[in-house]
Amino acid sequence: MKNYKKTDITFVGSGISASFTLINFLSLLDKTLLSKKLSITIIDRYAEFNTGIPYGERSGFSTLLITSLKNFLPEPERTRFIVWLNENKTWLLEAYKNEGGVLTEQWLHKHAEEIQNNDWIDLFLPRRFFGIYIDERVKQKIKLLENKNKIEVTFIKEEVVDIAENDNTYNMVLSNDANLCSKKVILSVGSLPVQKLWKNKEVIETENLLFVNTPYEPNLISTIDKMDRFLRQRSQAHKKTNVLIIGANASALEILYKLNDHLGSNQYNLNDFVFLSTQGRTPDAVIDQQRKETFEAVHLNKLQRKNALSAKSIAKAAFEDIKESDKIQLGAASTVDTISAAFGALLTRLEYNELSKFACHYGNEIGKKQRCAGEHYTNTIENLKKQERFEHLAGRFIDLDLDETNNEYVLKYLDTETGSEKWHDKKFHLIINCVGSMNLTDNRIPKLLTRLMQKGYCKMNESKIGFAVNNALETKKNLHIMGPLLAGNVINNNAIWHVEHCGRIIWLSGILSKIMYDSFNKVYDIKTENALKSAETIESNFEVITLKRDWDLFLKDIGHYDFYHTYDYHHLASSNGENPILIKYIENNVIIGLPLLIRDIYSTIYKDATSVYGYVGPISKGVDDNFNNNNFITHLIKYFNANNIISVFSRLNPYLPKQNKILFQVGELTPQGKVICMDLKPSLEKQRGEYRNRLKTYINKARRECSVVVAKTNSDLNTFIDLYYENMDRVNAKKFYYFSKDYFRLLLKSNDFKTTVLLAVHNKTNEIIGGSMFISTKAIIQYHLSGTKAGYSKLNPTKLLIDEMRIMAHQQGLSLFNLGGGLGGSDDDSLFHFKSSFSKQSKQFNLWKWITNKQVYNELVLAKTDNTKKNYFPLYRSIEDINVQL
Ligand SMILES: Cc1cc2nc3c(=O)[nH]c(=O)nc-3n(C[C@H](O)[C@H](O)[C@H](O)COP(=O)(O)OP(=O)(O)OC[C@H]3O[C@@H](n4cnc5c(N)ncnc54)[C@H](O)[C@@H]3O)c2cc1C
Repeated sequence: MKNYKKTDITFVGSGISASFTLINFLSLLDKTLLSKKLSITIIDRYAEFNTGIPYGERSGFSTLLITSLKNFLPEPERTRFIVWLNENKTWLLEAYKNEGGVLTEQWLHKHAEEIQNNDWIDLFLPRRFFGIYIDERVKQKIKLLENKNKIEVTFIKEEVVDIAENDNTYNMVLSNDANLCSKKVILSVGSLPVQKLWKNKEVIETENLLFVNTPYEPNLISTIDKMDRFLRQRSQAHKKTNVLIIGANASALEILYKLNDHLGSNQYNLNDFVFLSTQGRTPDAVIDQQRKETFEAVHLNKLQRKNALSAKSIAKAAFEDIKESDKIQLGAASTVDTISAAFGALLTRLEYNELSKFACHYGNEIGKKQRCAGEHYTNTIENLKKQERFEHLAGRFIDLDLDETNNEYVLKYLDTETGSEKWHDKKFHLIINCVGSMNLTDNRIPKLLTRLMQKGYCKMNESKIGFAVNNALETKKNLHIMGPLLAGNVINNNAIWHVEHCGRIIWLSGILSKIMYDSFNKVYDIKTENALKSAETIESNFEVITLKRDWDLFLKDIGHYDFYHTYDYHHLASSNGENPILIKYIENNVIIGLPLLIRDIYSTIYKDATSVYGYVGPISKGVDDNFNNNNFITHLIKYFNANNIISVFSRLNPYLPKQNKILFQVGELTPQGKVICMDLKPSLEKQRGEYRNRLKTYINKARRECSVVVAKTNSDLNTFIDLYYENMDRVNAKKFYYFSKDYFRLLLKSNDFKTTVLLAVHNKTNEIIGGSMFISTKAIIQYHLSGTKAGYSKLNPTKLLIDEMRIMAHQQGLSLFNLGGGLGGSDDDSLFHFKSSFSKQSKQFNLWKWITNKQVYNELVLAKTDNTKKNYFPLYRSIEDINVQL
């Protein structure tokens, strides 16, 4: 019997839950001095690591994501993936095309322009692309740390069938009877297996029937091959085939799509397609943009005014709102955002027990009624419907019966509407089971899970699809859960269900990797632990937000903010290694939000906080002149200490009230210069009255020679980007100002704010000679970026564009136009003088600098400072040229 070498950490199961946990964990280790090399073992029963079932070869190359990339992957991972896609798209698309069939061809044709422009964000991409990317990411990270001699990693292809604890270590028994001991185990085995519906076998094949119970086992391509053989034989015998797909979830749509992609042609003699699902409804795909915007979650909104809330009352209101949307025939694709945001906001008011009930009983039930999918999947159904070859039965599978007269099978099902058993009049020949996973009470669940429950190492929670875990995501000391089996828990005050969603997996893997890091990191001292403990006790009024949903809701609640405070801008403007957070603080009727970017200080365990490029600082509601910031600051210090954050820097926003009050006597507030603004409320004439006379002349001339258009097409945007880069080259700008092309595109796509690009077209030559980008949120519009074509600065296109934007913004009812200041915050350079020709109104703009751990700060300064840059903050970064955006 083989015994493997004892290991520090073992991942059981190697899908994206394990991969993201590992990537995050290794990033933390990379910054730490370790007393000894850590050994890590990764086990999977399938001979492919890092991708799991959906993103690897088990799903093949031509299956697509069930959401757009924008909804699938959160930042900053999304941008990293897009950059990788841009570099690898040629061979990826080739492989996708080679494996796929007619529908794959159609997809490529339909999205040719987006692919050409690297405009991936709204596409439902082939899942395998992401699998190859994540596999590369994990391998690179492992190699980096192995080269630094910090870790050694072993991959084992076996199934783990039992785990036994002995003397603070876990002994794992593998399917080849080998043993492996590990100090820490991460159980990341994915969702529970699918319920086999008939005969408890993977595939049943008889004369007139192919019944597939597990389409992804051993992989989808071999299942399609099996179907291909079966259909060919029937077709050669001139027999028509009726298809029954049981279930109406993403897998069911995927199977239908793949059948039609590969086997849709006439040669297979496919006849009718029937879906059987309890609710009798297919996921929705088409967004009705206009009705989406006016749809309100009336019942959930009503609850906002109620003091006493429960999981049940929120779920009831959500179901009622879903019913209302059904009545007006508005599908889930158009209502899911509104309904989810409305119940998400209410959940923040629930106590632990009620959150737990919601996680266990209601989250998934609401989710089942709000299923969405991509149009490419639902179009397959629409096409079949047009040919009258599709039927959707609302009911539950009971059995199949052999009609011996013709040796064909008939379906017996429980009809949802009448509750009675029915026989369907069609004979079915190809049946695919897509009903979804079994639950933990099923005696057919994998042996490993049965044994873990029998030994009491894992206890099923009330959701019946997840194990109860503590704050460290453990079911037992050093036995951690990651992925779908976390369903039904409350983690960091959030009710957790459906941990199949990639964004949720990434978030939870961040939590687990920090827990793992802390337990292995010897530098972790008592002081920090104490601070952490006290931070836990103040959670009710101090929270750190990282999820878009929570961030958006918070801004909505505050009401008064600038685009620099939004989630999307933080994710777009943060660089690699900068993690956006929004600190939320509530004290009586005061609400404060402080958005920051948290970044590691290279080769230390410490971090610091900075702000995005622009005018940021805290936003607030209810802060008046009597506000005492003592409590807020105590909470901030506790949080910073607990997270090893030693300094904070932010450029404040001169238009938001009370920032100075909130930060009163906290670190240093240093005046950095002035910014110029225009009040858009008076009449256009009155506003123009503030212009310098020379400016008016310039604008008049520019208006005679140029026309102004709003950039609408990709080509317009590309021209603007080129102009901008050209300008940056001309002024020898620092690397920081060369924003990526994706940055511009994503700014335009965001729904968090409105981005407008105006272009000046020279009438004589029809050339675009200038472009400016403006961004507005709420009442404020900001002049963001600009470019003028070489040789045309005398025509002053930028002045004309600002003037045009002023007119448009006034007409749109905005109240303030910020033009910003000079270079590096200067209020005495040519840029500042140019801006001040538009308005006499200016505002003082401050920098906030706060050292929260003086001792460490000073040590770092001694080790890492360029002595010539005394004003740099934080000073220990003065040799890294990071705060160039000042
Ligand atoms: C077909 C399909 C399509 C999907 N599409 C999407 C999508 O488009 N968008 C989206 O957000 N989500 C999608 N999902 C949801 C998906 O479950 C999650 O995104 C994610 O893959 C879960 O990751 P995981 O690592 O937890 O589980 P998995 O990917 O299932 O990985 C678990 C791994 O554990 C291994 N394993 C299990 N038991 C053992 C054992 N005892 N010993 C050793 N190894 C073991 C398995 O072989 C597997 O490789 C899809 C899921 C499926 C099945």
